Amino acid sequence: MTDPMNHAGHNEERHECYSERKDQWIIFRCPQCDYVRRMNWETGEMKVRGGDYMVLHGGFHFPTGINPDTNMN
Ligand SMILES: [Zn+2]
Repeated sequence: MTDPMNHAGHNEERHECYSERKDQWIIFRCPQCDYVRRMNWETGEMKVRGGDYMVLHGGFHFPTGINPDTNMN
């Protein structure tokens, strides 16, 4: 496994997630591990499950058409 002496300065692992919408939840899933992050855009509630704290998770963009702050249609 990783030698702690060699860890400093190393790039952290990074996973790009993809998002989907289910009702008022935006769900971010990581295709590389079991990380799931759900955010309720009505209440701001957020739930995170799985993943590794050593791994950065990116790609948290909202699906197109979802912007609770704007009603410009
Ligand atoms: Zn991941």
